[in-house]
Amino acid sequence: MQEDILSTAIEYLKGVGPKRGELLRKELGIHTFRDLLFHFPYRYVDKTKFQKVRDLHEDLGNVQLKGILRRLSKVGEGRKRRLVGRFRDDTGMIDLVWFTGAHWLEKKLQVGAEYVIYGRVSKYGNQWNIAHPEMELMNEENPQKPKTFEPVYTSTEKLNAKGLDSKSRRRLMENLFEKLDPAVFAENLPKYITDKLKLPPHAFSMYRIHFPRTETELEKVRLRLKYEELFFLQMRLLQIKKRRKKEIKGFVFPTIGEKFNQFFQQKLPFELTEAQKRVLKEIRRDLGAGIQMNRLLQGDVGSGKTIVGLMSMLMAIDNGFQTCLMAPTEILAQQHYNAIHNYLEGLDLKVAFLSGSVKGKKRKELLQDLEEGTIHILIGTHALIEDPVKFKNLGLAITDEQHRFGVAQRARLWKKSHPFPPHILVMTATPIPRTLAMTLYGDLDVSVIDELPPGRKPIKTIHRNENHRLRVIGFMKEEIAKGRQIYVVYPLIEESETLDLKNLEEGYEALSREFPLPDYKISIVHGRMKPADKDYEMQRFAKGETQIMVATTVIEVGVNVPNASVMVIENTERFGLAQLHQLRGRVGRGAEQSFCILMSSFKLSKEGKERIQTMVRTNNGFDIAEADLKLRGPGNIEGTQQSGIINLRIADLAKDGKILQTAREIALRILDDDPALERPEHLPVKIYLQKYAKTIKGWSRIS
Ligand code: ADP
Ligand code: MG
Repeated sequence: MQEDILSTAIEYLKGVGPKRGELLRKELGIHTFRDLLFHFPYRYVDKTKFQKVRDLHEDLGNVQLKGILRRLSKVGEGRKRRLVGRFRDDTGMIDLVWFTGAHWLEKKLQVGAEYVIYGRVSKYGNQWNIAHPEMELMNEENPQKPKTFEPVYTSTEKLNAKGLDSKSRRRLMENLFEKLDPAVFAENLPKYITDKLKLPPHAFSMYRIHFPRTETELEKVRLRLKYEELFFLQMRLLQIKKRRKKEIKGFVFPTIGEKFNQFFQQKLPFELTEAQKRVLKEIRRDLGAGIQMNRLLQGDVGSGKTIVGLMSMLMAIDNGFQTCLMAPTEILAQQHYNAIHNYLEGLDLKVAFLSGSVKGKKRKELLQDLEEGTIHILIGTHALIEDPVKFKNLGLAITDEQHRFGVAQRARLWKKSHPFPPHILVMTATPIPRTLAMTLYGDLDVSVIDELPPGRKPIKTIHRNENHRLRVIGFMKEEIAKGRQIYVVYPLIEESETLDLKNLEEGYEALSREFPLPDYKISIVHGRMKPADKDYEMQRFAKGETQIMVATTVIEVGVNVPNASVMVIENTERFGLAQLHQLRGRVGRGAEQSFCILMSSFKLSKEGKERIQTMVRTNNGFDIAEADLKLRGPGNIEGTQQSGIINLRIADLAKDGKILQTAREIALRILDDDPALERPEHLPVKIYLQKYAKTIKGWSRIS
């Protein structure tokens, strides 16, 4: 009974009712008592400390002062009319200002009395002031009551208007705890773990996260709840993974056959790196195991993921199966198609391309061939997962640059073959931070290519501004004279698309003056062009018919022109780190020394500066991914938004990597030792998982 109480609709809580209930649901997604409980404060106001007027400074933000209200007067006329109070402690004086409610306040406030005031300080001329401070009278009825950390809850304008501000949310919280039997908060972690990690009990933590008494207490319960959150998330992910391995059978590809060997011996144009070999072995083992493979292949830009994907496909084909490779954009898909088509020349394999632009008779024939099984490799865009696309026997599906595909799209691939789902290999465009990989892809096996092919010279990255423009142009001319090609990239962000397009066009014109025909030829590619025109320009550049490619980020992912050795990025401060790293990865693909020139304005935000410094400091995609996570937080990393898993209540993947690591290790050990959670000490975990697994957002989407 009491346990179910947490599922009670929020409107039945004292102080809520139907109207406010509706608002809580709409504005914050709070439907039940449980939701309210798990809506933790997003910060706390430290009301245990008092500041002195003498020590005020701009960075303090909110302050609490104790002193005497000395004077109160109305000043100004009409709309500028306001109530001003003078407030003094033993070190100095500040102004208090109210723009509304003057009449009522004048009656209520007692000049000469002692108050504790709280609010945000700012400086006006030489004078400190606080607008609309909270005022608390100190007298016999209201002595110095013990001060606490006051929780602050997220609110919205609509909630504030309906009296659901942070303060009344605190009252709701009090009402809720009054109603709840402590049994509701049964311990959910094994005792040997809470003992070892010195974590406070679940019940205590759930209460004290809302009503902490001291900073130390707050830190303790916060740590406990982070562990708890990450532990149960990992338990769930690992359970899904385990169950899948047990229950979902996969096609067995026992042989390394003719095509693979032929390719390996006659076609492969280079020696595989040790990392590539290791990953291929991992994949090979999966494909022979009789269990469906679900593997994430991580590797830095240019580490050679494509060839690994291709050789995996050959393993499937040698065992009589079809394969497909899905890329997020037309250009990329086309490029994969061209590359793979070339690699496989003379091997007597049929490779086909499918995207929205393949239409009519051609499409019809293709779909028919696919169903009859004469196509070995289908490469394309998300057009591949549409319903009319039917394979005879799809054995392996690869997605490239997966972070652009939703989890749901990945799931649609599963349905494309029978009786088992195809083996799945997910390749990332750029590395993702470890903590994100462990959560977003925590149910997948992970392979990492942590080595670049030999002979690559590290790209030199340089930061420049408008003052250096002429020198940059001179440098570009030198490189072109050596026979190299150059990308010049402009940002294109949707909200300001028109303006950006203007920037791009002006940039193109300026370049055309500096690099005139007939000596120089310039290509231009942007998102408003027709696919065929884009493709034409790309091809011209790829064939070396033009020396400069002026483009927006459409060239971001995957494009491969080894002779291009300079990447100039305009308005660098407007790009994200992952994007910059991708762009830089377009050069450094040949034997020549390559350069990346980051152009920016003089004035940079702190974050913009840090991003540029990170790019200059390192070429390593894994380092950059970590820096990106720290700078922007997990919710803003590309590809994570649509995944509900990242909506953690309290843990922060950017900061809590160690906790996550430990939580995952504990979860792994428990599932290894006691997979069914049958031991008495694991009973709390089992019960909690059963009861709450369904209620945590995002979990259903990955199972
Ligand atoms: P990414 O991992 O970014 O997708 P690609 O698969 O596009 O990288 O490979 C980048 C370039 O490196 C390609 O031109 C590819 O032919 C080349 N390459 C891949 N593996 C090797 C290797 N072992 N030795 C030399 N060059 C390689
Ligand atoms: Mg690639």
